[in-house]
Formats: sequence, C-alpha cells, structure tokens
Amino acid sequence: MAKILVFDEKCVGCGKCINVCPFNAITLENKKAVIGDACVMCGACERNCPFGAIKIERMQGYEQDISLYKGVWVFAEQRGGETAGVAFELLGAARKLADRLGESVAAVLIGDVVSEQAKELIAYGADVVYVIEGNDYENFSDELYADACIKLIEGHKPSIFLLGATAYGRSLAPRISSSLETGLTADCTVLEIDRESGMFVQTRPAFGGNIMASIVCPARRPQMATVRPRVMKKPEPDFGRIGSIVKFAPVIEMSPKAKLLERIQEESFGVSLADAEVIVAAGRGISDQKNLALVEELARLLNGAVGASRPIVDEGWIDHSHQVGQTGRTVAPKLYIAAGISGAVQHVAGMSSADFIVAINRDKDAPIFKIANVGIVGDAAEIIRELIAQLKSS
Ligand SMILES: Cc1cc2nc3c(=O)[nH]c(=O)nc-3n(C[C@H](O)[C@H](O)[C@H](O)COP(=O)(O)OP(=O)(O)OC[C@H]3O[C@@H](n4cnc5c(N)ncnc54)[C@H](O)[C@@H]3O)c2cc1C
Ligand code: SF4
Ligand code: SF4
Repeated sequence: MAKILVFDEKCVGCGKCINVCPFNAITLENKKAVIGDACVMCGACERNCPFGAIKIERMQGYEQDISLYKGVWVFAEQRGGETAGVAFELLGAARKLADRLGESVAAVLIGDVVSEQAKELIAYGADVVYVIEGNDYENFSDELYADACIKLIEGHKPSIFLLGATAYGRSLAPRISSSLETGLTADCTVLEIDRESGMFVQTRPAFGGNIMASIVCPARRPQMATVRPRVMKKPEPDFGRIGSIVKFAPVIEMSPKAKLLERIQEESFGVSLADAEVIVAAGRGISDQKNLALVEELARLLNGAVGASRPIVDEGWIDHSHQVGQTGRTVAPKLYIAAGISGAVQHVAGMSSADFIVAINRDKDAPIFKIANVGIVGDAAEIIRELIAQLKSS
C-alpha cells in the first residue's frame, strides 16, 4: 500500500495543498497540513507543494515517470471498413481534453483494409492516426488488437486512452490496462481535466446510479476510460483539417487462443435501437406481455424501434438487447415514448439525452414526468391503441 507523509519541518502552512486537493482531504492544524481519510493518493498536493513537504511513498516498482506521457488517444473501432459512431464521439471528447492540456489527439485504427478511414478520423479531430493493417487484423481479436495497442502505447506513451464501451472496447480495454498495470474506469459519463491538478477526472454513476463517482488515476499512465456509444456528442467533421497517418506493423509473436468460426446476424425487430430516431419503450405499466404487440405496432408506424425497461426483460417478455438504461443500452433518439415506465434513475441514465420525451403513465406523480416534454396520464395500452388509430387514420 502507498503511504502519504507530511514533513512538518518543511511545511510552512501556506495552504496551497488544500486548494489543489480535489477530495477536500487536507486541513491545517497548528499551521501544518494534515491529511485525512478522504485522501485517494492522487498526488496533486505532492506535485503542488512549493516546499516539498508532502511525499507519497509508493509500492516498489510501481513508480512511473508520468511526465513522459503526453497526448490523448482514441481507439477508432471499426467493423467491416465502417468506423463506429462511438469513435467519432470519443474524438470530440478527446479534442476538448487535449486542447485543455495543450496536447495532441491520436486515433488507433486496426483492421484489414482500413487506411481510407484515417482521413475521416482526422476530420473528426485526430492530429495523428496510427494505422495497423493486414489480414491478421481482418476480424476483431482482443488478443491481437490488445497486443498491437500495447506496443504502440509503450512506444509513444500517451497520457490518456479512450475506448468505446462496446463489446469490442469492453474486452480490449481491461486486457490493455492490466498488461500496462494502469487504471481503467468503465462506462464514464463525464470526462474532464481538473483545473488545479491537471489530472484526468473520469466520472461515472456508482451505487446503482445513486451517486456520481469521480475517479482519477494518479500514479500510472495511460489514464484509461471507456464511454458508452451516444453518451458524448459527435462533433461536426471538418474535412479541411490536416493530420498525419502513421503506419505501424507490430511483430506478431503470439497465436490467438480464440478465432472466429462463423458470424450469425442477431434477429431483431425492425430498426435497431442504436440507430433509431424514434423509440417506443415499454415498462411494467403495459401490464401484460400481449400489449407488447401494440408497442411494436406503434414503433413500426413511426419507423422506430422498441425499447424496454429492465423488469419486462427480467420477466422474459422481451430480449435484453431492447433494454434501455444503466445495464442496457444508452440511446439518444429524436423521440422517446416511455409507456408505463416509472422513470427510475437507472432507466433514465440510458435515455435522458433523447431530444423529445413523451411519457404515458397512470400515476400523475410518476418521476418520468419530471423529464418528459409531454406527459399523458392514463392507461398505457389504451393510449397506445388510440395513438395507433390516429396514425392509421391520418
Ligand atoms: C444496478 C441496477 C441497474 C439497473 N439497470 C436498469 C436498466 O438498465 N434499465 C431499467 O429500465 N431499469 C434498470 N434497473 C431497474 C430500475 O431500478 C427500475 O426498477 C426499473 O427501471 C423500473 O422499471 P419500470 O418503470 O418498467 O417499472 P416500475 O418501476 O414498476 O414502474 C411501472 C410504472 O408503470 C406505471 N403503470 C402501472 N400500470 C400502468 C398502466 N396500466 N398504464 C400506465 N402506467 C402504468 C406505474 O405508475 C409506474 O410508474 C436497474 C436497477 C439496478 C439496481
Ligand atoms: S502546500 Fe506544502 S507547505 Fe503549504 S500547507 Fe501544504 S504541505 Fe504545507
Ligand atoms: S494525494 Fe490527492 S487526495 Fe490525497 S491529500 Fe493530496 S491532493 Fe488530496
């Protein structure tokens, strides 16, 4: 375990450490700094004390010269030559972080024939795109992709590395962070740079969404985080931006334990949740599984997709791929119709970015009405039937 020490003989009681501590862990007693239990060993006070009065004693072999690490990197996920939307969203976030730090943004693009996609990544904010290309990388392999990323990171030493919290990103990120013995925060909702310490602060919901936890990685680099698709806003591309494309061909010294045998397309109703501009979502208040047919019909008429709250997924009424919320998908449609959904924080976490929310609930005090643009008090099934009838007659 690391230990934090204050050398009383050096401390002059100037209070600078109190101002830089993001966790309010320091007080002055008899004009000497005293560090309390809230300390998370972020190191901001150690770096900022003008008198060298604070020292963190770290585990042996754990020290890293973090001043060597610069730049904000994004894993530019792609499938079949198409860049995932989350890569652009992360580039937007990376650009803001890098500008705040006065550093550059790089994207890591891995696949078979992917070079063409690099220009798009530059348009969305990358200054450099590292391209790792070849047959070996045609299909996603967490082992091979992680190996390539680790070699690149070891060579170039980025300070921050962001990945999408997708099936690919979620299997890649922990492999990289554990190999590099650095921290990783999953499913972040806010990424920012602490004004005083310059530390990368990664915020995510914790304890069932009841609190927001701000997490820092003080002693190791890169500082790693994943973010779900559609949590960050996609920036406007600028195809006039200039950037460089750097090819990297790592020596492959391993043979992956897993290989792709077959691709099976997931069966799903209509438009996918991720792409839908309209989502009609059902909760426990639709009362009966049979009423899901009404929800599907309304979604079809609006050229939308069907979403669900967790209880009806748990009941087995609908597949988990439709679940919206903290343990389901994050969506940002133009229109979200929440039918018989109470508005629990864990559900709202996945849909509050919708442009326009219509809530149908028989309880006029249901929390969902607090975030809804339009609220309809009444029986969900009955109102959906009426909406269907109106749409069909219009
Ligand atoms: C760690 C954790 C993660 C979670 N992740 C998720 C998640 O990803 N997604 C998610 O949705 N939930 C999640 N939950 C569950 C969440 O806390 C709520 O329990 C859930 O969202 C409630 O679903 P609901 O609104 O459908 O049901 P309820 O809370 O039971 O609400 C039903 C609503 O329907 C209304 N109603 C009843 N009958 C009618 C009717 N006939 N007509 C109209 N309205 C009616 C009621 O007034 C009520 O407001 C999670 C919970 C935990 C602890
Ligand atoms: S910044 Fe250094 S000298 Fe000033 S109060 Fe804190 S520990 Fe003491
Ligand atoms: S190490 Fe970080 S959390 Fe601990 S007292 Fe210093 S500034 Fe505060």
